[in-house]
Amino acid sequence: MSLVPCKVCGTLNSEDAEICLSCEFPIKGRGKKDWYKWVALALALMFGLPFAIQAIQTIMHSIQTQPSSSKTQ
Ligand SMILES: [Zn+2]
Repeated sequence: MSLVPCKVCGTLNSEDAEICLSCEFPIKGRGKKDWYKWVALALALMFGLPFAIQAIQTIMHSIQTQPSSSKTQ
């Protein structure tokens, strides 16, 4: 059994410990933060997508309204 330092507070905890004894940070906390990442991504998409679509539409509109090159000699 070896001791691993906590990533947050640096307290040495046993390798088998699930959480830090000092700050209760999950030492082996893999997977627990994965859902948070996906929620953040989903929220970013939900809020970002309308803006992206609007930006694309604005760009497309400005391209369409620009006078097309009819100066081919
Ligand atoms: Zn800690």
